[in-house]
Formats: sequence, C-alpha cells, structure tokens
Amino acid sequence: MDYNYLGRTDLKVSKLCYGTLTIGPLQRNLSIEDSVQLFEEAINNGINFFDTAELYKTYTHLRAGIECFGRNKFIISTKSYAYDEETAKRSLDKALNEMKTDYIDIFSLHEQESEHTLRGHNKAIEYFYKMKEEGIIKALGLSTHHIAGVIAGTKSSYIDIIHPIINVKGLGIQDGTIDEMLEAVKNAYEAGKGIYAMKILGGGNLINMSEECFDFVLILKYLHSIAIGMQSIEEIKANALRINNIKIPEALKCSINSTQRKLHIDTWCEQCCQCMKHCSHGALSILDNKIIVDETKCVLCGYCSAWCPQFCIKII
Ligand code: SF4
Ligand code: SF4
Repeated sequence: MDYNYLGRTDLKVSKLCYGTLTIGPLQRNLSIEDSVQLFEEAINNGINFFDTAELYKTYTHLRAGIECFGRNKFIISTKSYAYDEETAKRSLDKALNEMKTDYIDIFSLHEQESEHTLRGHNKAIEYFYKMKEEGIIKALGLSTHHIAGVIAGTKSSYIDIIHPIINVKGLGIQDGTIDEMLEAVKNAYEAGKGIYAMKILGGGNLINMSEECFDFVLILKYLHSIAIGMQSIEEIKANALRINNIKIPEALKCSINSTQRKLHIDTWCEQCCQCMKHCSHGALSILDNKIIVDETKCVLCGYCSAWCPQFCIKII
C-alpha cells in the first residue's frame, strides 16, 4: 500500500481510505462486532485512513475499532454541518466523546457548495481553527460535490484538506463536468491542499465498471488518497489489490459484482417529501403518490434516509 502526506499536513495516509458510511445505519447497518472484523481486515491490508461523518452514525463502530487495535492505527477524518461556534463545539465534543479519543485528525465542513456557503460557516471554521491551535484537531477540511466548493477550499487559508467527488462518469458533480472538476482539484493540489477523493465508484452505481473507474483515478497524481465505502472482507481485499494496481482474481471480482447496491423505499412511505428536499442530487421525485428514484442521478449516499421520519429508506 502506498502512503502519502495529505498536502502540507503531517498526516501520512494510505492511498486507500476506508469510507465508513456503508457500514452504519444509513446503509448496511452492520453490528459493532462485524465492523471491528472489517477494520481488522482493513488494517491488515495496510489501510490507516478512515472517513466518517456525524451524519453516518459510525462513531461507536470506530470507537470499538480504536479500543481493539489502538488509536495509532486510525487516522480519522470526520465532518459535520456545524455553521457557528455553538454547533461546531457540539459536533467536535460529540466526535471526541463517542469515539473516546482526545483528538480528531481531520475535521471538515460537510457538503460545502461554494465560497458563499463557506463564508456562511465562518464562525464554525474559526472555532475549529482555535481547536487546531490547541492540538485537538490536526487539520481542517471540507467535503464537496461542487467544483465551486473545491475552488472555495483552495482559496481558504483555513482549509488544509479537500474531499471532492470524482469518478469517470462525473456522476454526482453538481455544477459542471468531470474535466472541470479535475482542473479545480489539480489547482487545489498545487496550492498545497491534501486531496482525498470520494465516490470513485459512483456510490456503488459504477461497480460493474470498477476496472475503468480505478484506471481513471489511479493515473491522477494529485489524489493523495481515495475513499471507498466497503461492507465486506472481499471488498476490502479487492480494493486493496486494485489500489496497488494488482489485478483482482476473477472469483473475488464476481463476489463483489454480485453485491451491487440500490436505494429501496419501503411501502409504509407517507409521501412527506422530506427525502426529496434533502437530496442534493435531484434523484427523488413523486409520481402517482409514490417516491421514485432516478438511478442515473442517485449516488447511493444514503443521506435522504437520515431525514425519513418513517425510517423507510435503505441502501440494499
Ligand atoms: S422521507 Fe420517508 S416517508 Fe417521507 S416521502 Fe421520503 S421515504 Fe416517504
Ligand atoms: S436519493 Fe438519497 S441516496 Fe440517492 S443521491 Fe439522493 S440523498 Fe443520496
């Protein structure tokens, strides 16, 4: 496994980052014991970088991993929607308490769209920066599905790390093409920002063309790391091989391709439309009193399910 320093930080992370959204209640909802087994497999495959978020509800999974294998095996990146000092403090305290740790390696602002949204989060950034000076946070970042979000992060002297959406089809990019996104990311890298990509497999939608997806990102020299959500030992093994440019054995490939995911909405949906309002990809609509998923737009992030008061949305 290759390791890179994330931009100008002293965080040396594995090229493959474990995206933990997939194991939490918004997706597979694995038990703590099963999650710990996956973390063990990840660590044995050289992974030291783990991505989470307040929204994902996987802090307790990571806490169990830390308790089993030690804090030094985990470089943790988390994010929240904090927008002022009070919400930032609450988010940071929650992360520290629930993961039972004294520090967070990377704390990011979740889903930033542009310099306007970043400006709107100024008070939260100032609080996180103060915590960085106290050593409680090692680096500040932002995650984004927008080219304008990458550009805003590049311009901000507070932001060390950018976590952008990148995949061969440009699936999920909200304000332009994949070429425009790559140009913005390259500029961010050259400005000294740490870059770790998300959704290189389109949230699982592109899993049947995973070879092409990997080929596409592995030649991009400006990606320090690549976050992939993984739900099984087989996925960890296969992705660790592929990230090292080693061919995946056919049997392993088949077991992964058969696990292609989709968004499922249960029959007890009450058409309250909360999910539609919170899908930033415009993938949900209502037709004949039924919520319809546009699979060409859905990146299987599972964020809509966090807003469903009836708990009827799942990634299966
Ligand atoms: S949020 Fe849940 S209950 Fe409301 S429309 Fe969406 S799926 Fe149905
Ligand atoms: S429909 Fe749900 S899972 Fe799909 S992109 Fe929208 S928020 Fe994400």
